[in-house]
Parts: sequence; C-alpha cells; structure tokens
Amino acid sequence: MFGKRLLLVTTLCVGYAAVLASGQSVTPAPPCTDQIRDDNCTLPACRCSGNDIPGNLAVTTIPQLVFLTFDDAVAIQNIDFYRQVLYNRNNPNGHSITATFFVTHEYTNYTLLHELYRLGHDIALHSMSHNPLTSYWARLNQTMWRAEVVDQRQQLSQFARIPAAEIKGFRAPFLQIGGDDMYTVLKQANFQWECSRPTLNFRKPGLWPYTNDYISSQDCQIAPCPVGEYKGFWTVPMIDMLGDNNEGCAMVDTCTPVPETADQTYNLLLKNFNDHYTSNKAPFGIYTHAAWLNGTDDEYIQERRAGYVRFLNFLGTKNDVYIVGISRAIEWVKTPTPLAQLATFTHFQNPARPNNCPYVYNCRYAPEQTPFPTERYMSICSPCPPVYPWLGNPYGRP
Ligand SMILES: [Zn+2]
Repeated sequence: MFGKRLLLVTTLCVGYAAVLASGQSVTPAPPCTDQIRDDNCTLPACRCSGNDIPGNLAVTTIPQLVFLTFDDAVAIQNIDFYRQVLYNRNNPNGHSITATFFVTHEYTNYTLLHELYRLGHDIALHSMSHNPLTSYWARLNQTMWRAEVVDQRQQLSQFARIPAAEIKGFRAPFLQIGGDDMYTVLKQANFQWECSRPTLNFRKPGLWPYTNDYISSQDCQIAPCPVGEYKGFWTVPMIDMLGDNNEGCAMVDTCTPVPETADQTYNLLLKNFNDHYTSNKAPFGIYTHAAWLNGTDDEYIQERRAGYVRFLNFLGTKNDVYIVGISRAIEWVKTPTPLAQLATFTHFQNPARPNNCPYVYNCRYAPEQTPFPTERYMSICSPCPPVYPWLGNPYGRP
C-alpha cells in the first residue's frame, strides 16, 4: 500500500517535471521514506518535510521560535514604527530580538536598511520590481528570476553596504512562487531559504522548515510548486493563521474579519500562537506589512498597533520564547539546541555591528532617467549612480 502510493507520487512528479517556463527539465525529487529520514537525510544538511521536532528533542525542552516579518519597502514612513516597536526588546538570553524584512527596491531607503542590518535584523529579498501581476511571477523564466532576485542582492549589497553573503532569503511577491524556475535560480545563486508557501494542512501540529532534497509533503496552495530536487535549500512554510471566521490566512493582514480593537488584535495573535505553543512548537510567524500597524490606511491602525505591542510584551514574559530572524531560526533547526543550552547558542546572540554607512547620499532622478512617468528618489550609502537602477541595470550605470 505504502509502496504503491510512493510510486504514484513519483509518476506524478515526472509528469510535472516537463512543465517549466524555461522549457528545461528538472530532476524530480525522490520521495522521503522512513529509512531515508533516519539514514540519508539528516541534520544539519538535510531534513525531510514533516511535523517532527528537529533532533527528536522533547517539546518541553525546546524554544518556541517566533518570526516577525515585514514586506516591501523600508522607508522614512515606516522606520519610526520599527524603531518604536522592535528596538529595545530582548530575548531570554539577554540579546535583542530580531525581525525579518522582505525588501523591494522601489522607494526603499537603503541607509535605513543598513541601520536594521547593523542591529542584527534579517534582511531578505522580495524582488526588484514587485510587478503587480501574479501571472508575471507564476510564469517568469530563469533569466528574469536572476534579474529580479540575484541582481537585487548585488544592488542591495552595494547601496546598503550589507555583505551579499548575509542576504540569504526570499519571499515571492503576493506569495506567487514560480515553481522550479524560481527554486532553480535561488539554489544556483546560493540563497539558503525561501518563505512564500502557505500551509493549511499542516497547521497543528505545524510543519517545520525543511530542505528540498526529497519531495515535500506540503500542500500546494499557490501553484506552480516545485517538484525538483534542491539539496540543502530550505523551504520555511507559512503556517496559516485562522481568522475569527475560521478561514486560513498566511499573512495576518489578510485575516478576516479585520480586527478593529486592540483586544481583537491581541486575541487573534494569542489564539494562533497557542496553536503552535501547545502543540509541536513549529515556528510561529506573524507575517505582515507595516501598513497594517502604521500609517493612515484605516481608522483602526492605532488599535491594532496597541494589540500587537501588547502581544509582544506578553511574549517577553515567557522564558522559552525567542523572536528571531528566519536565517537565525534555520541555524537552530540545523543544530537543534535545548533551552538549557541556549545561553551559549551563538546564532541567537546579537553583537553590535559597525556603522558602515556613515554618509547618506540622497539621489533624485527626473522621469527621463527612470522607466517611470514621474521622478524617483533614493537614499543610499554610496555615491548616486547616473540613472535610476532597475531591472537589467541594477547599479544604474549610464
Ligand atoms: Zn509585497
């Protein structure tokens, strides 16, 4: 029975493998068996998808990891929110908490990005263009994936003075992944992980991050999902929250009904947190855009912000909860470390980094220097390039 099911999976994979935007074929990932799980696919290099706790540690001995992530541009309009809500907040090891930023190029202030990096936050990518069409991302070929993501890493590294090797992760715009073309480019370019795939089937107990050496058991909510083999490349599943209508929401700012009071916001976060905390402690992610908690998009933002802050304060009272960037969490999954030994776990430490962006260059581009009908501004840590950097010209060369 079990063998027959595996055969079916393999057959399906071969069928899918031919369907690639690039026209190339990929090596289908083999299925993971109990024997492979025990003998061939072991940490830190490999982990089959599943809700088993890494290292087979007892749930009472491990930390509950929490991800705070924010998508899109980091700018003057939202930096004060990050400073007020995230800074000066510590994990139980006495080091400051860290969040993850999925950054797009347009409107990003790279000097502020340097500040976030310097304070230990995880700077990850979210594409250069953030093209508004999901069909664009679903069908993107590998050349364009490289222009959107690999070039963006070089661009961000130069403008924000962040070492390229420190930029390890990616989230697809609108969570519209591009299947094997996207995974092929990320793996070839030495990215370590991506975090774009929602799961409703593996909520409680939750799906832990896994590598793509073997075919994933995760549900494919937003096709095309990869079927190929990407050894050592991690998928960080976005475990759906449940809104008060009991429907799944990968990003908390899409949960409905939209919370309008601090209590409603706090209770939404607490209820979903407890689904992780009282189960297998798979990482709990609060995935959002700053606009849900900052600005003037609707009249309830201040209430939601108060509820969010109250929830972070609550997490701060728990000595087994660590709020860490996703790259740091993957280091924990690779080397599962019990709470009792976390004081010396270096990846959760956050020593000061030097300010390598002492001068701010404020660049301004007339419409004819951009691909847009209106002018663009950009603040960066290096001298202004002659034209506005964009797809195919990430450094803005003349
Ligand atoms: Zn986005």
